[in-house]
Amino acid sequence: METVIVLLTRDLRVHDHPALAEACARARSVVPLFVQDPAIRARGRQRFLNEALQDLRASLRERGGDLVVRRGDPVEETMRLAAELGAEAVFTSADVSAYARRRERRLAEACAAHRLLLRLFPGVTVVPPGALQPTGGDHYRVFTPYWRAWSGAARRPVLPAPDAVSLAPGVEPGELPPPGPPHGMLPGGETAGRGRLEHWLAHGLAGYAEGHDDLPRERTSMLSPYLRFGCVSPSEVAARAEGRHGGDAFVRQICWRDFYYQVALAFPDLPRRDYRERQVDWNDDGEAAQAWREGRTGLPIVDAGMRQLAAEGWMHNRARLITGSYLTRRLKVHWRIGGEHFADLLLDADIPDNWGNWQWVAGTGNDTRPNRVLNPVRQAKKFDPDGEYVRRYVPELAGLPVEAVHEPWKLARPLPGYPAPLVALDNG
Ligand SMILES: Cc1cc2nc3c(=O)[nH]c(=O)nc-3n(C[C@H](O)[C@H](O)[C@H](O)COP(=O)(O)OP(=O)(O)OC[C@H]3O[C@@H](n4cnc5c(N)ncnc54)[C@H](O)[C@@H]3O)c2cc1C
Repeated sequence: METVIVLLTRDLRVHDHPALAEACARARSVVPLFVQDPAIRARGRQRFLNEALQDLRASLRERGGDLVVRRGDPVEETMRLAAELGAEAVFTSADVSAYARRRERRLAEACAAHRLLLRLFPGVTVVPPGALQPTGGDHYRVFTPYWRAWSGAARRPVLPAPDAVSLAPGVEPGELPPPGPPHGMLPGGETAGRGRLEHWLAHGLAGYAEGHDDLPRERTSMLSPYLRFGCVSPSEVAARAEGRHGGDAFVRQICWRDFYYQVALAFPDLPRRDYRERQVDWNDDGEAAQAWREGRTGLPIVDAGMRQLAAEGWMHNRARLITGSYLTRRLKVHWRIGGEHFADLLLDADIPDNWGNWQWVAGTGNDTRPNRVLNPVRQAKKFDPDGEYVRRYVPELAGLPVEAVHEPWKLARPLPGYPAPLVALDNG
């Protein structure tokens, strides 16, 4: 083929990129295209996304190519560029959200109308969503049987980055947003993601099984934002972790990600509707939700998690479970309200993972024990035994003895500057 457009969306890397690798193998000139779509709100992720695009452009330029950037509707912009260049085909990575699927359908119609070949490639998950089906069902509703099937499934090979990308002559590359000011948050992009992966494999993975719930010490990979934007490939992460000490427990979590992708594919309403209906008298008290968002519920472990999220665009998984369970089970605020706030702020917020987990926490999702309610104080004592995590994010409590850090309402006198608990905790 002469010219192929590779439409990139949330697969911002050159390593192990099946669509890009195939285009480079088949076509004389390859046009990697990213369309900034005003319909997608990147919210707290804009800075990370901009850095990922800058990094990808640099990697493609090193290989003789470029990242072509446009703004507008991705289907219209792809068609416009294809017409300008006389491209014969569009390659892109298949994705699962309702929006991504609609975009794929529209792209298929437009390509058919313009006699362009459209090919969809894997790469967003390890095992393609929908590839594994239980007998008598279209997707797995329970994790453990999925994990079993997933562990035995055939895998595609992990691909190297292309040596050279030859761009069609005369393409206007388009401008990227300038890099923002320095910041202390996770830097976006494939280079940073690969660096983190290397460091994690060498220094973190072996302690994962014991350490993943350690709240103050953050002994998890922090690869999720890189997986979210495809800066690292989930297949490569899984392949490189497998067989190493700590690898099993870690790869199981990567499988949870694939699990929610196949749930989201089968149930596109995941962000909007109960996956498993549950009668709850949701509390529409806006003030309780607002106190939760701002980290002033009076429950230190919850406030610490929420303040970590606001400051870093990040929250430890254990804190996500505690804050999510508290919002939906204790305050009885609807899971959609919690999920929207996470979607606003989390660097890794992703439709299948965010909404799948929120529904799990609220008991409307894939939990086989939907009545499970976490006791936040017990969780705090277990996973933050010295109160270090709470002290870091709730400085009002920093000078107190550990018992008071976890249960300040037991102090003889109320603490100035820290709220009384929004709801009393029973022992459940
Ligand atoms: C209420 C709630 C909302 C969440 N929202 C998101 C979200 O929007 N995006 C997101 O990526 N994760 C989400 N998670 C899952 C989990 O908290 C994060 O994936 C994890 O904290 C990321 O940190 P890590 O990369 O250090 O994880 P590690 O422990 O190092 O795990 C490695 C990878 O496995 C995957 N993974 C781990 N746990 C889960 C899980 N429970 N479900 C699905 N995949 C998982 C992630 O891709 C992660 O990067 C949510 C969890 C809860 C309870």
